[in-house]
Amino acid sequence: MNSGMVYFVGAGPGDIDLITVKGKQVLQQADVVIFDRLINPFLLTDVKDDAKLIYCGKQPCKHTLRQEDIQKEILIHARKGKTVVRLKGGDPAVFGRVGEEAELLAENHIRYEIIPGITAGIAATMYAGVPITHRKHSNSFAVVTGHGSQKDGTPNVDWNSLSKGVETIVFYMGVKHLNTISEQLIKHGKGRDTQALVVHWGTYSKQRTVEGTLATITSKVEQANITNPAIIVVGDVVKLRSKLAWFDNRLLSGRAILIPSIDERNREMVTALKKDGADVFEHELLCERDYFDSGAVNDLLKMESDNELVFLSTKSVFAFLKGLGENCMDVRDIRLPFYSINESVKKTLQTIGIKSKLIDMSVVSPVLVGDETEIESERATLSPLAKGIVVRKKSVSNKDIAALTRLLEERHINTILLTSPAEALTFLKFLELSGIPLEQVQENVTIICKGIDTSLILKKSNIRVDMIIDNEDVAKAIGKIEEVELALES
Ligand code: SAH
Repeated sequence: MNSGMVYFVGAGPGDIDLITVKGKQVLQQADVVIFDRLINPFLLTDVKDDAKLIYCGKQPCKHTLRQEDIQKEILIHARKGKTVVRLKGGDPAVFGRVGEEAELLAENHIRYEIIPGITAGIAATMYAGVPITHRKHSNSFAVVTGHGSQKDGTPNVDWNSLSKGVETIVFYMGVKHLNTISEQLIKHGKGRDTQALVVHWGTYSKQRTVEGTLATITSKVEQANITNPAIIVVGDVVKLRSKLAWFDNRLLSGRAILIPSIDERNREMVTALKKDGADVFEHELLCERDYFDSGAVNDLLKMESDNELVFLSTKSVFAFLKGLGENCMDVRDIRLPFYSINESVKKTLQTIGIKSKLIDMSVVSPVLVGDETEIESERATLSPLAKGIVVRKKSVSNKDIAALTRLLEERHINTILLTSPAEALTFLKFLELSGIPLEQVQENVTIICKGIDTSLILKKSNIRVDMIIDNEDVAKAIGKIEEVELALES
């Protein structure tokens, strides 16, 4: 049988743009994506709509899929001829078990490729202002696991060689054993005042850092309540942070904003928000597909000319005609007069040889052709009793639901920015179709609307709006919330 292809892909440490071009390309081709907890879930919005997504995230105390099960999943799908992407946080080879998983494929004669990624130990460190080597401060580095295979999990390391032979040491999965790590390093020769740094959720806007020495770092980290995922960096290079901390403490550090559609008019604003340190996730949350209601169109063919056929948008004109064609129907069998909602629709119809009139008071029993929202809003304003023929439908895809759910669960989003009434409607429709409960969205999220009209749409649905901004500088306006929150905290 034609066996599939497996790609092991390093997703990078978190910053959504720190995945390789090659990694992103194969992600877009995947039939199956098996992903870890530490990948940025927004990457999932890039996969095909019908891709199967399998979460094997290991949250502390919440093991979802065991290693053997993960390996089984990869094999099953590859044997069915699928393109499988095994998406791993950081680099697949750095404490990512790619060796074991690839070995199994080799034994089973299944083709695979391994696409490296940027590992947290190097990237999170640099985002915290610390280069892991430096001509004056460090000629060597080691990456070390801070979690051992013994029952109590303490790391299984040659402390003597590590303390004496390596200048910068980066521990992964080590926060829980930070005390043991510091004690062992001191015991084997590192000075008590050796610099140490812990970076939590590195490269995300919400990155937090705690700096100290081997003697003080454990208590400082406890005080700051920092847990996994975090890396620990030990060595002189940490001193450089005082000069090189380029990522922290920008106006919008810690702000992670979702904009539920992609609008060219937002381009400058989004660039400014990112420059000020926010994570911005822009994505078209609703997909639109053509739809043909053959029952309704058959009824239409039976109607007499005392009804009027009204086209509500250019897109709907094309969707309607395409539907007729695909169902072997002929537009000339429609006996009703044709009307257009506006000049542009009228022009479109004319370019394909169909004459229509602009809608006016003479239209008394219209049949509206459009998508659900177009028909709904037309009914609300002019023709409450009008019949409708739906030719386009909005839908949501599983990948977007999965991405948003994980983003909310991990609190990678704390702000939703709606920049127009249409975007507010998109957001509401997404909630309705996805089944994600409003409470889950609102719980830890600030909702910001650009313009009163946008906010009114949410208020009509009883959704809390936390801030309305006008045409002012959006980054500055959001920055002000930060100031208020900081003031409240202190
Ligand atoms: N393959 C990954 C590491 C997997 S082990 C890589 O190359 O980065 C998981 C550990 O990686 C976590 O416990 C934490 O120590 C570290 N880690 C992963 N992402 C991180 C991030 N964004 N910030 C800080 N530490 C991170």
